[in-house]
Amino acid sequence: QSTLSRLKEKVRTIPDFPEKGVLYRDITPLIGDGQFFRLVMTIFLERYQRRKIDKIAAIDARGFIFAGALAHILGIGLIPIRKKGKLPFQTFESEYASEYGVNTLTIHRDAVERGEQVLILDDVLATGGTAEAAAKLVERCGGTLVELGFLIELRELKGKERLRRYPIYSILQFP
Ligand code: 5GP
Repeated sequence: QSTLSRLKEKVRTIPDFPEKGVLYRDITPLIGDGQFFRLVMTIFLERYQRRKIDKIAAIDARGFIFAGALAHILGIGLIPIRKKGKLPFQTFESEYASEYGVNTLTIHRDAVERGEQVLILDDVLATGGTAEAAAKLVERCGGTLVELGFLIELRELKGKERLRRYPIYSILQFP
C-alpha cells in the first residue's frame, strides 16, 4: 500500500457536518498521529525547502497547524490571515463566499514587505473562496504569491478552476 493511500486513510469523512449535505473531511486523526503528521510535514518540506520563500501565510484556523510547523523547520516568518475581528493592528479586509456563507478574512497591513515571496498554506481547498481571499490580501500588501499549498483538495468543488491565476499544490485529492 502506498504512503499516500495510508495517509488518505487517516482522514475521517463525516457526512452532514457542519450542515446537511456537506461531506466534511476531518484531519484530526491524521494530525493526532505523530508519524503521519511528520510525513505530511516532510512532503511539504521536500516541496518548499529549495524555493525562494520570504514568508508563509497561514489561513485561520487549521492552516496555522501546517504553516506554523513549516515556518519553524524553514526558519522563516509566519503571517496569520485571520477571520475579521481577531487581528489587533491595522488590517486589509477581503470578503468571500464559502460553502457555508459569507465571511471576511483580514491581514495586518504591515505583514508583508513589497516584493516578498509568500507561500500560503491551508488544510483543505474546497470552493477556493477562502484561498482566493487570502491570495488577494497578500497581493494587497505588495507580496508575490509563490504558491497556494493544501493538505487536501476536494476536487468536486472546483477550487482549482476558481484559483487558476495561481499555482496550486495539494498532497491528497478527494474523492
Ligand atoms: P472554501 O473557501 O475553499 O470553500 O473552503 C475552504 C476553507 O474551509 C478552508 O479554510 C478549510 O479549512 C475549510 N473547509 C471546507 N471544507 C472542509 C472540509 O471538508 N474539511 C476541513 N477540514 N475543512 C474544510
